[in-house]
Amino acid sequence: MGINKIFTNCYVALGSNLGDSRGYLDKAIVSLQQHSSIENLQISHYYQSKPHGPQDQPDYINAAVSFDTDLSAEALLDELQKIENNNQRLRQGVSRWSARTLDLDLLFYGDQYIETKRLTVPHPRICERAFVLLPLSDLGANCKSINKTTIKECIEALPGSELKNIKKIKEIEL
Ligand code: ATP
Ligand code: CA
Ligand code: CA
Repeated sequence: MGINKIFTNCYVALGSNLGDSRGYLDKAIVSLQQHSSIENLQISHYYQSKPHGPQDQPDYINAAVSFDTDLSAEALLDELQKIENNNQRLRQGVSRWSARTLDLDLLFYGDQYIETKRLTVPHPRICERAFVLLPLSDLGANCKSINKTTIKECIEALPGSELKNIKKIKEIEL
């Protein structure tokens, strides 16, 4: 690590349900691992889940990563969107929550609460999404919280229907 740089511990969710989804997640993780401003990257297990929103689309492959970065939250979002764009993510003319090759969401940026035009952190829909909560738990984030509710409490409150729609498909050595 460089001198005089402040590193912040971050969590990012990865999702894909178009094309070679596992391949897109693998590629995104390599891009993050190779980034000069990212250190200590850890990877969750991979999961397969039913889509939220429109149901007439393929299942998702989901995972999460944690790492330390000296990028600002906005600069990190730029990097995440660059990686999405380099992996055939289309933005124009697609409806909300439609199928995509790669989606990278910033879940946590340290313990900061951020609300700008481009960014809401912690990501506002963490607590209702098993496909985000289970990978976060793999990464040891059970005690992280959003407005005083912990990840562990969110998992305990998940409806059975949400847990029925997700399965682990690849074990990563954690
Ligand atoms: P959801 O946010 O429900 O997971 P989504 O991932 O499909 O939906 P996108 O179309 O990928 O939404 O992103 C829309 C916009 O959300 C982005 O252009 C980005 O500026 C904004 N955004 C706000 N907060 C975040 C965040 N924490 N991580 C990533 N993008 C964010
Ligand atoms: Ca998303
Ligand atoms: Ca997104």
